[in-house]
Amino acid sequence: MKTEATFVISAASARDLPRDGLAEIAMVGRSNVGKSSLINALVRQRVARTSAAPGKTRLANVYRVTRGAITPFYLLDLPGYGYARAPRRSRGPQRGTRVGVESRGPQGGSRGGVEIPGVLSPAEARRSSQAEFEAIVSEVFKRSPAALLLVDARHPGLASDRAAWTWVHGAGGNAAVVATKIDKLGRGERIRALRELESVFETSVLPVSAVTGEGLDELWILINRLKKSG
Ligand code: GDP
Repeated sequence: MKTEATFVISAASARDLPRDGLAEIAMVGRSNVGKSSLINALVRQRVARTSAAPGKTRLANVYRVTRGAITPFYLLDLPGYGYARAPRRSRGPQRGTRVGVESRGPQGGSRGGVEIPGVLSPAEARRSSQAEFEAIVSEVFKRSPAALLLVDARHPGLASDRAAWTWVHGAGGNAAVVATKIDKLGRGERIRALRELESVFETSVLPVSAVTGEGLDELWILINRLKKSG
């Protein structure tokens, strides 16, 4: 089936997001979970950049996707979370940058601001990248898009993934969990991993591989379903 994806914008805030009312599917996951590879495999094009610089993307990349006769939709490629490297020491524009953050995640809480100093300890850097992540993600999730949470099949039940599921799932749109890099697991391991994932997330989990193409047809079916009832 003919699939086409075109890059629309790197959105820094909700103001940059499309306003034409097409369905939106947000993709969320830890840095390095294989999100870019999966997007490229899905659309059979290299639109998303794979990890040359993990954790660097702080913007939501928006792609307009068409496939066969289905109504076009937007794929919102959100920044990966869980990235922990300290930024370069610098007195540049980072110093004192204020970013808006929902203190209680996308669902609610008061809008505040977090001070990001120019020189950060690794722990502070973790917190600030978390704050930046939360800022754009909370803006996107206010729109209640359908969402796919990507988790690495080899690491079921990580605290950060469980936390992400809590707000992805609670944000009002339809949501599903996808297990990436399933090709890296042997038969027994994958059965164990999927069972564990489904017990942690209390929902069915779709195994996929960007390398072998396993699960991609099913992922399109899932996307269509999320999109329709979203
Ligand atoms: P992102 O940071 O979530 O966008 O992750 P990337 O797509 O950049 O992938 C991170 C690393 O995992 C890269 O080295 C990819 O080649 C590798 N990778 C991604 N998807 C798969 C997969 O399905 N199978 C295997 N074996 N490796 C993968």
